[in-house]
Amino acid sequence: MSAPARDRKALIIGCGVVGPVLALYLRRIGITPVIYEGRPEPRDDAGFFLNLAANGTDVLETLGIREKVLEGGHESNRLVFQNHKQKQLGENPSETVLIKRGLLTKSLREAAVEQGITVKFGKRLTDVQIPHEDMAIAYFDDGTEAHGDFLVGCDGIHSQTRRSILPNAPDPEYTGIIDSGAFTRNDSIPPTDGVMRMTFGVDGFFGYQKVPTGEIYWFENHERKQAPDRAALDAISQAEWKKKLLRLHKNDHNEVSEIIRSTDGEIGKWPVYDLPSLPTWNRGTVCLIGDAAHATSPHVGQGASLAMEDAIVLAKCLRDVEGVPDAFETFESLRRDRVEGIVEMSRETGNQKAPSNLVTRKVRDLVLPFFLKRGVESFEEIYSYRVDWNESV
Ligand SMILES: Cc1cc2nc3c(=O)[nH]c(=O)nc-3n(C[C@H](O)[C@H](O)[C@H](O)COP(=O)(O)OP(=O)(O)OC[C@H]3O[C@@H](n4cnc5c(N)ncnc54)[C@H](O)[C@@H]3O)c2cc1C
Repeated sequence: MSAPARDRKALIIGCGVVGPVLALYLRRIGITPVIYEGRPEPRDDAGFFLNLAANGTDVLETLGIREKVLEGGHESNRLVFQNHKQKQLGENPSETVLIKRGLLTKSLREAAVEQGITVKFGKRLTDVQIPHEDMAIAYFDDGTEAHGDFLVGCDGIHSQTRRSILPNAPDPEYTGIIDSGAFTRNDSIPPTDGVMRMTFGVDGFFGYQKVPTGEIYWFENHERKQAPDRAALDAISQAEWKKKLLRLHKNDHNEVSEIIRSTDGEIGKWPVYDLPSLPTWNRGTVCLIGDAAHATSPHVGQGASLAMEDAIVLAKCLRDVEGVPDAFETFESLRRDRVEGIVEMSRETGNQKAPSNLVTRKVRDLVLPFFLKRGVESFEEIYSYRVDWNESV
């Protein structure tokens, strides 16, 4: 007979976006969560920025922490698309909050700690064992182990939890896109008043928003068919990378090169991966959520919001469904179609950012307004998803 919810201990692997959110929901239903994070200490300045959409921020609202967690963020209420000559091609409403990644993960972690949740750093998971149907054991690289009634892998796209419970699962797949991101200040760029401006450039895609503090948050995507060697990519100097981006955008309107040129701080660069559909997201007393289960490319800005949706839905399943393995199965059946549809949509969106010649550009400029109008409906469907905490699953 498994322990009643209120006496259960949950091992949560990873204190990124979804780990603390899940911990807060589990605590609400009387389960004791402990978060194990692989990094030796918090890195609150790590990463660049992301957009949290209304379907994700609503999960924080239900916890009563929305305002506090998003304090340092900026509203982003519209996406405006333009071509390389700055001709406007269309726009989409976008109810999102633009926030620095380190700030978001810091506030989420602090919200968890404030509510008495233990977060242990320097605990890199190396393996998971399921000795019997009411238990999970986590093994860490410092030689220690932790025992719980169940374990949830919130350890991101390269999840060790996934590798441990599904050794034959597919690996993340390179999507053919390199992503860059940075912050700058530049008085010659006018404020964008809550609008994220996106440019389909000749050889790359560029987006930016100038927030009320005067800071410009920008990102760039360009195609590279073969996955780059990570060490070789990291070894490219900042000056060289900046030159490369300026070269890629030399035929685009001036704002693009102006923003890149004025960037003195670090310009981040990453190959973009997503995760092919997994055969299952759980095994016995272990479950995967967030990027560990369904990492998406960033082109529709949904990875973090979907991860937050997972947290509330999983907690409801553990609250309402008898037995942990059945709760995990119910969770997966409630989530799979939605998240995998969005992963697919994001990959297709990324493919539209490929470089263009004169003919494809002209066709795209003609048909894009039509597609954007249709896209509004898909976006509304994504953003309007809400999980009612009080409704039973
Ligand atoms: C360039 C880029 C831009 C993005 N933009 C957006 C956006 O605009 N909007 C959006 O919603 N999403 C965006 N995303 C996606 C979003 O970042 C992820 O979907 C989200 O972070 C997933 O949260 P998570 O908690 O599952 O994983 P993560 O946030 O990656 O957290 C995983 C945590 O687990 C820890 N960990 C890893 N391995 C171990 C281990 N073995 N043991 C212990 N701990 C471990 C990590 O250190 C980390 O703290 C973007 C992603 C990228 C790469």
